[in-house]
Amino acid sequence: MEALLKHLVDMTCQRDHVLLDTSVVTALHELVGAQQVRVHEIFRFRHELFLRPRVWIKDDKVISAEETLDMETSGEPINTYPFLVDGIKQRKNCIEQTADDGSQTLWLPVWLNDKVSTCIEVSSPTPYNSDTLHMIDGILSVYRNYQNILDYSERDSLTGLLNRKTFDEKFSKLLSCAMLEGTPKDQQERRHPHDGDIKQWLAVVDIDHFKRVNDQFGHLYGDEVLILVANLLRSSFRSQDRVFRFGGEEFVVLLRSTTLDDARKIFDRFRANVEQHEFPQVGKVTVSVGFASISTESPVVILGHADQALYYAKANGRNRVCYYDELVSSGELHSEVSNVTVEFF
Ligand code: GH3
Ligand code: MG
Ligand code: MG
Repeated sequence: MEALLKHLVDMTCQRDHVLLDTSVVTALHELVGAQQVRVHEIFRFRHELFLRPRVWIKDDKVISAEETLDMETSGEPINTYPFLVDGIKQRKNCIEQTADDGSQTLWLPVWLNDKVSTCIEVSSPTPYNSDTLHMIDGILSVYRNYQNILDYSERDSLTGLLNRKTFDEKFSKLLSCAMLEGTPKDQQERRHPHDGDIKQWLAVVDIDHFKRVNDQFGHLYGDEVLILVANLLRSSFRSQDRVFRFGGEEFVVLLRSTTLDDARKIFDRFRANVEQHEFPQVGKVTVSVGFASISTESPVVILGHADQALYYAKANGRNRVCYYDELVSSGELHSEVSNVTVEFF
């Protein structure tokens, strides 16, 4: 009883999804004696659902994919697990799987408002008894409620994207990981054979002439455009990338582990997706994008670089993607910190 209370207190004092996942994995491992516990993320990419471990236990230690920066695994299609697909279709809370050797695995989809974006896998060499199943159910209920509260505080209410506060937290975390991993040896190992360095990238996206949309069609249509652009952002980037509503009609994208060529293609594909979209009543809308590599510089400097590239795009035709380093090396921009971003911090 005391151990259970300790774990419940631990779970509900977290202010971060990774720490909450870590505490639920620890609670299930210690209280239930589960051999393997994994928190999987379920995500949609190009109209298909995928499954990828987010936090798991290895050699009695809890590992998180986010903190290891090891986000290159694109996950497995959920169709690889037909019993899970069936269980989710039937809106089950627990899907049991017993292997020939008698070991039992429970798959526990975490439902939030009729949607499932997390599934916990708990394995034991022997079948669980009813007391243990009851305990697992209780832990999952606390986890579900608390995840709901955290989700609400991390997201922007209009678009459902991650909010500015979450950006500040996630970006600092990413930078500290980049600093830890940023030794010359590691950088060499992360070098792609033909396409140059694999890096993290930050882009600032701003809707072009958005004021005109509000002025011509009214604020409600303006809001509708923001929601639709947010949906295009969600569908244009991979799930390991992160998209934030930074404020007003400005968004920030953190693109993980890719080369400059690919980053440019990915940002331009998003720009083209917006250009080609038919916005109800409003018609055509375009966006400008400025991006920079995430180096070991401070958040202010990196954001300032992307901002300068964005302002260059705005001043030179809009509806385009500009890369900070390229503008500096071609002499179009001078290397200095943008005043616009300094005031954000
Ligand atoms: P530019 O191409 O230079 O970016 O021009 P712009 O008109 O998009 O830029 P500006 O920053 O002047 O205008 C942004 C407008 O976004 C002003 C503000 O009223 C509007 N806005 C900010 N937040 C919201 C919101 O939540 N909903 C709506 N409908 N409009 C918003
Ligand atoms: Mg703006
Ligand atoms: Mg704008």
